Amino acid sequence: MSEVKKVRVVVIGSGPAGLTAALYTARALYSTVVITGKYMGGQIATTSDVDNFPGFPDGIQGPELTERMRAQAERFGAEFVFDEVTEVDFEHGSPYRVKTYNTEYVADSVVVTIGASPRHLNVPGEVEYTGYGVSYCATCDGFFFRGKDVIVVGGGDSALQEGIFLTKFANSVTIVHRRDELRASVALQKRAFANPKIKFIYDTVIDEVKGETLEDGIRKTTGVMLRNVKTGEVNEQPIDGVFIFIGYDPNSRIFGDQVAKNEDGYMLVDDKMRTSVEGVFAGGEIHDFTFRQAITAAGQGCSAALSAIHWLQDREDELQPLDEAAPTLETASGD
Ligand code: NAP
Repeated sequence: MSEVKKVRVVVIGSGPAGLTAALYTARALYSTVVITGKYMGGQIATTSDVDNFPGFPDGIQGPELTERMRAQAERFGAEFVFDEVTEVDFEHGSPYRVKTYNTEYVADSVVVTIGASPRHLNVPGEVEYTGYGVSYCATCDGFFFRGKDVIVVGGGDSALQEGIFLTKFANSVTIVHRRDELRASVALQKRAFANPKIKFIYDTVIDEVKGETLEDGIRKTTGVMLRNVKTGEVNEQPIDGVFIFIGYDPNSRIFGDQVAKNEDGYMLVDDKMRTSVEGVFAGGEIHDFTFRQAITAAGQGCSAALSAIHWLQDREDELQPLDEAAPTLETASGD
């Protein structure tokens, strides 16, 4: 049986939302454990130059921003656990049970900041050239493609919106869509069609991202293998960048139907970041499919933490001492 540990707040996820939430709850003197997930820092930690996080006039590297936020939360006593959540029990009321591979946490309050993951094409070269021409974030990386030619993959709102945004920097934006009909809203389609820098290739998928390694060891995307799904015709197109916007998947599967979600799996929260479960709050891309910025996630993490703090304060008299033995997930749920 895994170790059982009682704590006031468990933060699930270590992106900007989670790290900000942990800073606030720890600084409010509530014992806080952050379960980082497989990788510390979430999506921002895989971004090279972050130019749009306020407070860093010269920009900052994603991993360094993560490290600074982690250190700030740790300064106030937040504990970081490099583990993944495998199971939660929100059905038996607070304190809630959050199980990881190694430990079972019994937490009075939970802040869910586990984020969403951009869908991948899963073609050769995609992983190898991510960060070297392949990107899932136009706001993060568009600036590096000034005067370059880029491809955007997808036919939804994200592809068109980000494609339009990329025309501010790129010389040309080619939107490659697997069908001959776009999924995006008519308004976005009109704007994209009217933009002289944007052209469309329909009925086409990318089979491979091509690139090379320069003398200094830096990798560089040089082209893509395109395949027309109707004719089967294959051709290589030289390109400097490939932006992939084929949807996002919120990492909400572990919660099952214990928390209310929308039809795409995003958690529903109210204006105080309260989920459908009392004492469980959420912030960042686990619920936000619109803004998706490090700074908005941090703000939402802060709001979720403040709501958790208020919730705990209102129950100060009912909170059990943390040093008492806690029942396990199995015994509490009667399984
Ligand atoms: P989406 O609406 O699911 O669109 C994904 C696009 O990628 C679709 O065109 C899809 O093709 C294509 N696609 C999926 N898998 C693919 C694959 N393996 N290979 C090639 N293409 C693939 O996702 P989204 O654009 O990220 O939007 C998500 C949600 O956020 C939507 O509800 C959207 O309305 C909303 N959103 C709104 C705005 C706005 O209002 N301004 C902006 C961004 C997002 P098919 O069309 O053939 O399925």
